[in-house]
Amino acid sequence: MAFQGPFLSLDMPLIIENYQRLTEECKANRVTLVAVSKTKPTEDLLQMYQAGQRDFGENYVQELMEKQKELPGDIRWHFIGHLQSNKVKYIASFIHLIHGIDSRKLLKETDKQAALNNRVIDVLLQVHIAREQTKFGLSEEELEGVINSLKETPLPNIRVRGLMGMASYTEDENKVRSEFTFLKTLFDRYHSDKSRQISWDTLSMGMSGDYKIAIQEGSTMIRIGSLIFGERNRIN
Ligand SMILES: *Cc1c(COP(=O)(O)O)cnc(C)c1O
Repeated sequence: MAFQGPFLSLDMPLIIENYQRLTEECKANRVTLVAVSKTKPTEDLLQMYQAGQRDFGENYVQELMEKQKELPGDIRWHFIGHLQSNKVKYIASFIHLIHGIDSRKLLKETDKQAALNNRVIDVLLQVHIAREQTKFGLSEEELEGVINSLKETPLPNIRVRGLMGMASYTEDENKVRSEFTFLKTLFDRYHSDKSRQISWDTLSMGMSGDYKIAIQEGSTMIRIGSLIFGERNRIN
């Protein structure tokens, strides 16, 4: 058991200790750690910032906007939730990476808002890899469609950096592994496709419960919440 519990009443020293252990593991595997700080107060984020963390993931636009205003300017903010097109404008000026792009419509809106802010926004295309019905994301065919549409009509103010996916929430390791393997296969299929001018470097897969499997299957970026911060105060 690498991490200490119980998580419901974690104190800061324990959070930092968990964080540092995870950082070592990420470094050894050349994986980027995104600390998922949704529902956590800004003081907790600031403590982690002081311990060296710069990549933070949030999945509510309103909460992200409030935290971004209060916290240091060199934080790299990741949007990891389901983003509605009409909300892109609120985060377009500062967002570092949007993980959950799952439609051409959202891509176009992100491109438009990036242009209005005179910048290029990095995004990941979210693929639906879990066999449960509840998760968002593109199917294999839809992914192909989006990639082809980008070739035909390039969007100059977005840059697709790779793929993101969430595995099924299950104890069945083989199922989780096969879902990650599938995502890695798609990543490899496109990641250096010169004819389409694609150059990908980011495969965002792995959360608290399955990040070890994700790393074994080729993840380059893991999104970790409860393993660092403890259980969340409300259900998401
Ligand atoms: C909440 C969340 C995470 C982190 O989940 P944990 O199990 O707490 O590590 C990762 N990715 C997404 C998309 C999330 O919404």
